Amino acid sequence: MTSPIDLLRRQVSDLHQELVRYDLVVWTAGNVSGRVPGEDLFVIKPSGVPYDELTPDTMILCDLDGKVVEGDHAPSSDTAAHAYVYRNMPEVGGVVHTHSTYACAWAARGEAVPCVLTAMADEFGAEIPVGPFALIGDDSIGRGIVETLRGHRSPAVLMKSHGVFTIGRDAKAAVKAAVMCEDVARTVHISRQLGQPLPIAQDDIDSLNHRYRNVYGQQRAAR
Ligand SMILES: [Zn+2]
Repeated sequence: MTSPIDLLRRQVSDLHQELVRYDLVVWTAGNVSGRVPGEDLFVIKPSGVPYDELTPDTMILCDLDGKVVEGDHAPSSDTAAHAYVYRNMPEVGGVVHTHSTYACAWAARGEAVPCVLTAMADEFGAEIPVGPFALIGDDSIGRGIVETLRGHRSPAVLMKSHGVFTIGRDAKAAVKAAVMCEDVARTVHISRQLGQPLPIAQDDIDSLNHRYRNVYGQQRAAR
């Protein structure tokens, strides 16, 4: 029988191809991880391996301190940030990081993407916030992600001058948030070229987000 860890290795490996499909990554940048249900472990991309060479077997199993438990390669250089999120946000089951173009254009200015589209109110329930500037090498990226997203409706954060980190109940949800983040960053960017996007009233954002999270989800589940 396939173990939960093997299933997760396959899922996380396959989800990396979604980053390619949606044009969110170049070269070996970007990574997906998923928490092993019920265990203090997660599966993440190896460092420096091209996307078309990623397989379930090349995925790295790590503990929540980011130490390798199983795997032939070094884990992604962003492993410490993923581990910090898993340690500090027990509800999170998946984390994604990309340098997707339009989202990075906002991150480079240190500007949040304002919530000016109903689809954004649905998915993000708020602006997509900016996290602090942080250098790789210690917990500062992870801490910035957690401090920005804890208590925030948005599952995505634009780390200043860097890129996107998204969270989800599982790895697939985090990938979806990364895809949607780039989509709205692009649309709002284009809208800005022609004028000032119109704000949506907070009450309307709240009601759209509530409907999407509750009514809409239940209808989909019933199908
Ligand atoms: Zn990065």
